[in-house]
Amino acid sequence: MKTIIFCRECDLRHIMEEAAVVCECGHETKILNDPATGPEVKVCAICGYEHLHLRKEFPRPLGMAIVVVAAISMWWMPGKIFWLPLIIASLIDMALYHVLPWKVVCYVCSSEYSGYQPTDEQAPYDLETATEHQKLRWPKKTSIV
Ligand SMILES: [Zn+2]
Ligand SMILES: [Zn+2]
Repeated sequence: MKTIIFCRECDLRHIMEEAAVVCECGHETKILNDPATGPEVKVCAICGYEHLHLRKEFPRPLGMAIVVVAAISMWWMPGKIFWLPLIIASLIDMALYHVLPWKVVCYVCSSEYSGYQPTDEQAPYDLETATEHQKLRWPKKTSIV
């Protein structure tokens, strides 16, 4: 399980390994509630909101490599089937999409949680929901504290 956070002040990416991480800009980000208590993330550990969505754990360099290889191989294909590498590339993409796990991503603070089970309420990214939640200020003020 891995948590990636983005500094609220400067947007720098950090891997959250401790209960708090101090950014190069001096801003400290703390974990409000530890997500590692169960197989699911229901509340964001960093901002405290429950607005989470799912994203495929798709390594971007791999996606790029597939496209580049497909584009190059098109040159070597006999004229009639020059499109074949593109078809193969998209088949690989589709296959990967089914195999790769989901990660849970926060709408509000963009924190990413890898290795957790998606809950029933969590759905893939939705632009409308995102626009609505990005206006929220975080960390959320909890009534308990
Ligand atoms: Zn920072
Ligand atoms: Zn969050």
